[in-house]
Amino acid sequence: MQGAVSKEAQGREGVTLTTSVQYLKGVGPARAAIFEKLGVRTVGDLLEYFPRDWVFAPGRSKIAQMRPNEPVTIVGLVESIDFQQYRRQPLLEVMVSDETGTCRIVWFHGGYLQSQIQLGQVLMVSGKAAIYKHQLQMANPKFMVLDEKHAESDKYFSGGVYAATARLSSRQIKGILLPLLDRLDELIEEFYDESFLRNNLISRRDAFAWIHMPPDEEKLAAAKRRLKYDELFLMQLGLALRRYRTQHYAYATPCFLTDEIDSRIRKRFPFLLTNDQNACIAEIAEDMKRTTPMNRLLQGDVGSGKTCVALYAALLAIANKTQAAIMAPTEILASQHYLSMERYLKNSQVRRVLITGGLTGAKREEILTQIKQGEIDIVVGTVALLQKDIEFRSLGLVVIDEQHKFGVHQRAELRKDCAPHCLVMTATPIPRTLAMTAFGDLDVSVIKQGPPGRGSIVTRWVDPRDRQKAYDFIRERLKTKKQAYVVYPRISAVEESGQEIQAATDGWKGLSVRVFPGFNVALLHGQMASADKQSIMADFRKGTIDVLVSTVVVEVGVDVPNATIMVIEAADRFGLAQLHQLRGRIGRGESKSFCLLFAETDNEAAKSRLEVMTRTNDGFEIAEQDLRIRGPGELFSARQHGLPDLKITNIVDDFDLLVMARRHAFELVSKDPALKQPEHANIRKALLAKFGGSLGLADVA
Ligand code: ADP
Ligand code: MG
Repeated sequence: MQGAVSKEAQGREGVTLTTSVQYLKGVGPARAAIFEKLGVRTVGDLLEYFPRDWVFAPGRSKIAQMRPNEPVTIVGLVESIDFQQYRRQPLLEVMVSDETGTCRIVWFHGGYLQSQIQLGQVLMVSGKAAIYKHQLQMANPKFMVLDEKHAESDKYFSGGVYAATARLSSRQIKGILLPLLDRLDELIEEFYDESFLRNNLISRRDAFAWIHMPPDEEKLAAAKRRLKYDELFLMQLGLALRRYRTQHYAYATPCFLTDEIDSRIRKRFPFLLTNDQNACIAEIAEDMKRTTPMNRLLQGDVGSGKTCVALYAALLAIANKTQAAIMAPTEILASQHYLSMERYLKNSQVRRVLITGGLTGAKREEILTQIKQGEIDIVVGTVALLQKDIEFRSLGLVVIDEQHKFGVHQRAELRKDCAPHCLVMTATPIPRTLAMTAFGDLDVSVIKQGPPGRGSIVTRWVDPRDRQKAYDFIRERLKTKKQAYVVYPRISAVEESGQEIQAATDGWKGLSVRVFPGFNVALLHGQMASADKQSIMADFRKGTIDVLVSTVVVEVGVDVPNATIMVIEAADRFGLAQLHQLRGRIGRGESKSFCLLFAETDNEAAKSRLEVMTRTNDGFEIAEQDLRIRGPGELFSARQHGLPDLKITNIVDDFDLLVMARRHAFELVSKDPALKQPEHANIRKALLAKFGGSLGLADVA
């Protein structure tokens, strides 16, 4: 007897957040294996296995006492189950009865419930009833299959509903989890002190209690808020520490900007830099004068003037007797950078070189030696450029142009043991939410407005029935010598398919013969010979081609200011980012441009994309909306960025919490960078449990 008592006491004390769920009552190796599939290994994981939904079971009622439109919970026996098609939708119909009557319950799209509900079971059902064909019926209510043991226990019905599997139901999960809620005082440790909790945050202990068994909606909301906050806080803390580490354990050569250097650099540009460019340069110069390496992201649409800013930074590094490397994702882009730099560096003393794959043998050796001896100031090339065999005498700045993709890993790779200041350029607007998370350890500079003298772009969503009117409009413009693009959609996701070339070819024939007779209409697609493509582009640039019909695979970087019209066929098939990118080809001249999106669709996501396009031309807003429409999951995988997955937070919707958590985390790291102070012990423990080794937080451990 005594032995049994002490064993139980020991068992109770023995459970901690890191205890395997296998040792919990009701779980053995078999269930532990199922839990593992749900990502739950430990007691801590189980407590963070947050419900996917919640039931606030309204008062129990007998079936005869149900009233239309009043929330109600009933318990009854499953008398019949019927699965049928209703208006081409699968419909599951279940009749449930108690001693007072029978109620019809239907689930639209209820096919997946068929395996869960069986004849003779006792169901608890909660929802609102309505009159249908003179009878009370409940549609899509929440429900739970009861066994005898739980038939009377509302506790198992109200509260959290868990994502379950065929072998482990939501109720079973709950049966294992609920006893833990009685021990939260031992299990859950508070992170923050009293004064911080006044920021409208409840205690961590209450948050765990209420997320699983919320007494009411308000307390559920408070629990979610606190748990989201903690999740964001730990993520930001990881980022803050990562940043602290790169800033304090790496040394970069400080590059000072004097008035003389500044005016010397500015003379290189045949125009005045814009306010946005100047602001970015000021931020960069401020970073570069420190011995901690700059780690900055420069954002701005294509053509907004980033290259000039990067070149300014490079010249600043060179003025401080160091070298600069400019890296692009592809050779074509690298040589583009090189050429545009040449324009500004004509007759300058700056020694520069473009390294390509074609550069081999003795010539290559010679250049590598020059770089090593510091006889070359700027090296332009692809990422391969920074391969081990290139040694710099004194590398002061690395500029990485990521163009349209973010090489997060690549960037990490490069920074591992390299001390230079680092400027990453991207033409893809990164929504502020991502800038604070996936890129949360970088500083960000933004060029919002491109160089002056560019006309506005008006975007219209055109119903194909108004096609003729749109063509009339375009003809009027063509008569004034303006030019137009007509783009046909991508059909295959991978490569330009024969099908889409066909669509563009057919479109081209129709347009040249019937729609724009008397104008020069040309076709361009990816499978044409390179020389043909070049000559067509040259003619379009010269203005001898009026309308350029193309698939989306058109040369990047086409810059024809006189082309002020863009028609996008089947625009509903394009993603937002791509629509925005296509539209970026017009609006480069001084006159007003027009983007016509031809589309007919019932698809809600497509409709919102088109609506966003007509509403704004701001790349950042578009990126933000893209994130909203697609959901953060698709764009943002925390894991991929070496961050812990977010279990409860949606970074788009919870932006305000994100900002607060970020500020708090960065403040904490500046005060206690190793999290050594006793009041931060709980935070440190949680952080290490979350990140493990992924952040290299050795100094915290
Ligand atoms: P990005 O690198 O962002 O694509 P670039 O730096 O290549 O943009 O600039 C795009 C075009 O605008 C170039 O032709 C450049 O000469 C021009 N440009 C850049 N800054 C200015 C400015 N401040 N005033 C006028 N033209 C500018
Ligand atoms: Mg550029």
